[in-house]
Amino acid sequence: MRKDLPKILNLGKHLGFKQYVSTNGTLVTDYLAKVLANTCDGVDVSIDGLEQTHDRIRGHGTFRRALNAIRTLNKYKAGIASIGVTIMRLNFRELPALCTLAENLRCGISIQPIIPTGAVFPRGYLLNEWLLFRESDIHELEEVIMLCLNQLLKNVSQPYLRIVVSYIKGNLRRKCIAGYLKLTIDSQGHIYPCSLWDKAIAKYVRGRLRKIWRSREFNEARLKMLSCNKCALGCYEPDNITFNFPLLRLSSELRRALRKA
Ligand code: SF4
Repeated sequence: MRKDLPKILNLGKHLGFKQYVSTNGTLVTDYLAKVLANTCDGVDVSIDGLEQTHDRIRGHGTFRRALNAIRTLNKYKAGIASIGVTIMRLNFRELPALCTLAENLRCGISIQPIIPTGAVFPRGYLLNEWLLFRESDIHELEEVIMLCLNQLLKNVSQPYLRIVVSYIKGNLRRKCIAGYLKLTIDSQGHIYPCSLWDKAIAKYVRGRLRKIWRSREFNEARLKMLSCNKCALGCYEPDNITFNFPLLRLSSELRRALRKA
């Protein structure tokens, strides 16, 4: 973890950014929890299953440390923490128990499907049979999601849950508009049209961001991105849903508002 993280978060807060942090929770001390509570809009603590499954994936004792992180965060700001579950073949049957765990911990829960990229793919440190769904799992996955619908809908919209299932089935059909709304700058200053794009468009130079945003390279990437189905990340799909299925989004928002009323 960067030693200057508190400084960066305080600067971001000062500049008026909305800030979300994802963590495995192992380094959340009282001091850090206080900083996160004062500067962030949400903290996602990754939990990959119940204790046995989580520790199998992340190492012995990591589940308890993740739970401690959530409790410590709750101490400084109620509602700031949520459980972040990456749904994969190994853990999807535990989703109902994780929804109950979130209720007991008085925190939210968010889900997203495993994306076949990064350090664990291909032939990485986790077995593909743990990660990748088989056709025979899909019906059970849909049943599990239906079972959790009420708990999940507090944090995750119904259209997004449909997208998650379509993505896992391999039949996701929508245009990805991520490149028209957001960009990603990594810690080295490389600029990407989205966080999973494999090629940087440019390097950040103070005062030139607008030019980069309007550049030919960025526009070419945007056009390619429209037909990309590589991920179904929760940070991009709400915009895709609004653009592709505006009525679905609206009806989901209305349902959510009615539930609260
Ligand atoms: S679907 Fe493709 S373009 Fe869209 S956010 Fe994911 S990786 Fe980027």
